[in-house]
Amino acid sequence: QKLVLFNSGFSSSSHRPSVEACPAQADGNTFKMPPIENDTGKNELKSRIQLLIDSNQVLVFSKSYCPFCVKVDIGARYYQVTNDGTNYQEMLLEMTGQKTVPNVFINKTHLGGCDKTMQAHKDGSLQQLLTGDNEAYDYDLIVIGGGSGGLACSKEAAMLGKKVMVLDYVVPTPKGTSWGLGGTCVNVGCIPKKLMHQTALLGTAMQDARKFGWEFEETVKHNWETMKTAVNNYIGSLNWGYRVALRDKNVNYVNAYAEFIEPHKIKATNKRGKETLYTAAKFVLATGERPRYLGIPGDKEYCITSDDLFSLSYCPGKTLVIGASYVALECGGFLAGLGLDVTVMVRSILLRGFDQDMANRAGEHMEEHGVKFLRKYVPVKVEELEAGTPGRLKVTAKSTESDEIIEGEYNTVLIAVGRDACTDKIGLDKAGVKVNPKNGKIPVNDEEQTNVPHIYAIGDILEGKWELTPVAIQAGKLLARRLYGGSKLKCDYINVPTTVFTPLEYGACGLSEERATELYGQENIEVYHSLLWPLEFTVPGRDNNRCYSKIICNKLDNDRVIGFHYLGPNAGEVTQGFGVAMKCGATKEQLDNTIGIHPTCAEVGKHFTVKEGTNTKSFNSIQSQCSAS
Ligand code: FAD
Ligand code: NAP
Repeated sequence: QKLVLFNSGFSSSSHRPSVEACPAQADGNTFKMPPIENDTGKNELKSRIQLLIDSNQVLVFSKSYCPFCVKVDIGARYYQVTNDGTNYQEMLLEMTGQKTVPNVFINKTHLGGCDKTMQAHKDGSLQQLLTGDNEAYDYDLIVIGGGSGGLACSKEAAMLGKKVMVLDYVVPTPKGTSWGLGGTCVNVGCIPKKLMHQTALLGTAMQDARKFGWEFEETVKHNWETMKTAVNNYIGSLNWGYRVALRDKNVNYVNAYAEFIEPHKIKATNKRGKETLYTAAKFVLATGERPRYLGIPGDKEYCITSDDLFSLSYCPGKTLVIGASYVALECGGFLAGLGLDVTVMVRSILLRGFDQDMANRAGEHMEEHGVKFLRKYVPVKVEELEAGTPGRLKVTAKSTESDEIIEGEYNTVLIAVGRDACTDKIGLDKAGVKVNPKNGKIPVNDEEQTNVPHIYAIGDILEGKWELTPVAIQAGKLLARRLYGGSKLKCDYINVPTTVFTPLEYGACGLSEERATELYGQENIEVYHSLLWPLEFTVPGRDNNRCYSKIICNKLDNDRVIGFHYLGPNAGEVTQGFGVAMKCGATKEQLDNTIGIHPTCAEVGKHFTVKEGTNTKSFNSIQSQCSAS
């Protein structure tokens, strides 16, 4: 095999390898790279490195004096590039997640350093990479986890002609709840959540309906069992649809729990405990997350999480929700909308990471509509007073600011304090995949590649990325296209639009006001805002001046919109459009020049006024503007 040794030349001249030591130098492939001063220089260096990778069967970035580089020198040719090695190492770090040398690429695949190369040599995978022969493996690609990301990636890879397997297995909750194929979103996330949120919105719509002239005599009440059955029947149809889609696309779906036993080999254990071994050239980890428990007495015995809520066989009754982020506020919101007595226990703030002005407005609306908030408390124990469906539970909580202890009685306690990545029991140590020990998340480079070159990761388990279904899907699809379709397109994790489905929905894209101030300085940002009163709220006389929207613009960059926030009905639909605009780099002027659709909430963009300082002095109401027009 031809080994191309790329010597980045950052050794001192006295340590430069001699022609004898590195005979391939005689090839004379010597480049002079420009020093990197700006983005253009960086891009140029990246392209050159990529070109080298693409055009050489074997490529080793090395230092002449590095003993490990010598170790991987299998005596083939190399050529030397003299330049600032630090630049190369920085760029290689960006491209591969590896800064050290040797940095080995074979057939365009990043293999790793000395140990990885030696290991691959030992286990035979080096030879397979060299010959491009994956036939020794059962599959070209094995995807672990059949959720949003895993399904998207496996189907795309199969459509590109690869032999693909996807394994999906749901470990039941401590309460015994389990579900079908499709992962969190379909079974215990976005889908049941949005349908139950819709159930709650219909309750409000029914109250409004009388004001619009609808007459109905009977007492209106909600039946949990009917809603639960309807929602779960729909989920069942989606589970079936996913199975059919995998079959149609020739993806081999196996309902078994996967764990690595070697870098290219996994053990799959099915429901009956039967173990089967499978090998693959490449792997994608897409195992998602599961709800975290509190680690206090009584939590696993008596409490539920969102994994249990959507298929609960009985109405939860008076409910305490612990936590104050997406899951807690959405679930607390729709349970209150069904007419239940709901209390949310908040450790610190609402919706950490989101614009706090918006988060508090969403919270105030919930409070006005009957949700109680116990702020600055954390639970310390949960005891059962009476078993039942629901039973009665006593919760003891402690103030985060004093020694005060409080107690309360509830039928159901829903824990929503975050989610843990499912990475601790999948044998990542056997495959050599690095995990952040603090949070179990997997660091990847900008191509979703882990530190082990043939193992990739997508979705909720990624370190520092959004935990959202469309993000997992996009990353999975694009990864498959890059691996097997010759594409270069990477997943763009910037300006991802999102919506929190609180009773009054909150949509956001880009930076919060706090973060924008931190990044650019108060003097360099301009905030434009507006209150709005949706037309459909006017006749029933509901929630005047509660809906609100704002944009944050970068004065240093032509008033480009760097943050969009909207609190009101159909926030997802409204925010999606602004998300596209921001992706295209929209400025305030361009928003001003876009004609709105009337009468809608999305036309709020046409009615922004400057938010002066921190005081919201000059509010505009869309309704008043509209009647004036
Ligand atoms: P998942 O969808 O979680 O899939 C991982 C799959 O892998 C699971 O089926 C798991 O059982 C399986 N698995 C794990 N380990 C193994 C193993 N060793 N072997 C085999 N299989 C394994 N996102 C939005 O965009 N919009 C929303 O409105 C929204 N609402 C949400 C509401 C709730 C209550 C929750 C909890 C989440 C919500 N999300 C929402 C987030 C969204 O569900 C996730 O971001 C998305 O599902 C992540 O996809 P994933 O592929 O990374 O993992
Ligand atoms: P999260 O965003 O990690 O929030 C965890 C919440 O629990 C925070 O309010 C946190 O309070 C609180 N908390 C943590 N430990 C606690 C403790 N020991 N006692 C009391 N409170 C505690 O978790 P999440 O709400 O489960 O959401 C997980 C992810 O799912 C989100 O990041 C999101 O991407 C995704 N998701 C998306 C949607 C959507 O798109 N609509 C909906 C649901 C979920 P502090 O602020 O004090 O830390």
